[in-house]
Amino acid sequence: MHVWRHGSAAEKHAILGGWLLLLVLCVGLGLATVKWGWSGLPVDIGGVTAYVTVYPPLPICLLLTLTLGWWWGAIPAYCSTLVLALYAGMPLQWALLFACANPLGFTMMAVGYRAIVMRRDLRNLTSILFYVQLSFIASIFGSAGALIWSYTNHLAPGAQLPIWQGWWLGSFLQSVFIGGPAMALLWPRVARWQLERQELMRKRRGGSRRSVLRMLAAVATGVLVYGFVTIRLAEADAAGTAEVFRQTVWIFYWVFAAIIVVIAFFGYQLFSHWQESTDGLLSELQRMNLDLERLATTDALTGLLNRRAADHQLDIEWHRARRSGHASALVLLDIDHFKQVNDRYGHPGGDAALRSLAASIRSVMREVDVAARYGGEEFLIVLPETGREGAFVFAERLRERVAAAEICHDGQVFRCHISLGVAVSDKYEPSFEHWVRRADQALYRAKQGGRNQAVMGV
Ligand code: GH3
Ligand code: MG
Ligand code: MG
Repeated sequence: MHVWRHGSAAEKHAILGGWLLLLVLCVGLGLATVKWGWSGLPVDIGGVTAYVTVYPPLPICLLLTLTLGWWWGAIPAYCSTLVLALYAGMPLQWALLFACANPLGFTMMAVGYRAIVMRRDLRNLTSILFYVQLSFIASIFGSAGALIWSYTNHLAPGAQLPIWQGWWLGSFLQSVFIGGPAMALLWPRVARWQLERQELMRKRRGGSRRSVLRMLAAVATGVLVYGFVTIRLAEADAAGTAEVFRQTVWIFYWVFAAIIVVIAFFGYQLFSHWQESTDGLLSELQRMNLDLERLATTDALTGLLNRRAADHQLDIEWHRARRSGHASALVLLDIDHFKQVNDRYGHPGGDAALRSLAASIRSVMREVDVAARYGGEEFLIVLPETGREGAFVFAERLRERVAAAEICHDGQVFRCHISLGVAVSDKYEPSFEHWVRRADQALYRAKQGGRNQAVMGV
């Protein structure tokens, strides 16, 4: 759907054309399987005879399922099995049911990869083991069709084993030894393409609880309906079946149904419990990261940025000024005779003065400005997109605001003065350190010039 709506013409042709071609190929190969009898081939493994069915459409459709999506693999799998069954003379109603077998197996694959986020390129042991396990489960589910095949072909009990074993063992081996390596080769390319053309992909809320529940419900319903219809059809065919046998089959079916529902339900409970605990851990981790980030960039006394964060902001602003050519200003300030403040009012009194100064800075700066405590009683303010006049007006306003602010500490009221150095940078500024140095020189001149003043740097 998404490819159809957003894809380029070339993509539409390549994907849909390629897929249709593969569909036809699968149907052909399915027919070949029947025609040349690739079903239930005996293989001698250390003296024990195992039966293997070679069914080429299976790995092809499995790859389509895993790379493009369930429908992409399920439709050709359904068509090829349906055509093969009709060709082999299976009655239509049986054939329609029989063809569901492989799509059912693919559902297990799709559910597995949806429930547990696992890399599909099979580049590490965990992802390989996961793939092998899922292949096994999918093959067993898919092999349910063998029962229908045995039944409609009226095979003697002895002849049923090769069919069933050939089916699941064959599809397991093909999934692992053909599907696996092909997936390892294909997936990196598919993933890259998906990343480039994200608008073509369905938005997936990765492993969201509701989608997993829906999928589990779909699998449970699929298995139960499959079993139900199979028994119903068998019943209709074998009208003379002994009543006891009939009832036993139904009892077995309902017990089996209850087990499937319970397993699906508990599987979901387990999954959601596990997801809740990981969700909790994740948000805790995010909160701690945020706290850490804040701690690492903030000055505890004033709540302004610390020197490390200030340097980072300066670097960003310097790069921006260089690129855009717009001027940005930097104001460096230092409290006048702060040692005397400390001597007269004590260190806590000095701290109160520092907090009051931070409040004054906050009250005059714009939202885009960045203020930091650069050293003991030295502060720095970055004024983006601000020229000489603007910066000087800002510095003077701040100086007046600080001079007017009353600092209350321990029942005493006092005032502080500050000296400021201003430096405006443009695209010729060699480095942000150089920019700070120019502001520092201006500040030094302000101190030399008698303090309580702002000086424009050269
Ligand atoms: P000047 O006008 O030349 O700047 O004179 P000054 O006395 O302010 O000299 P200077 O800038 O060298 O003084 C720095 C003083 O600031 C020294 C130190 O005691 C004080 N100081 C640094 N950090 C803190 C702090 O966190 N709290 C307090 N209370 N004082 C601090
Ligand atoms: Mg000072
Ligand atoms: Mg100082």
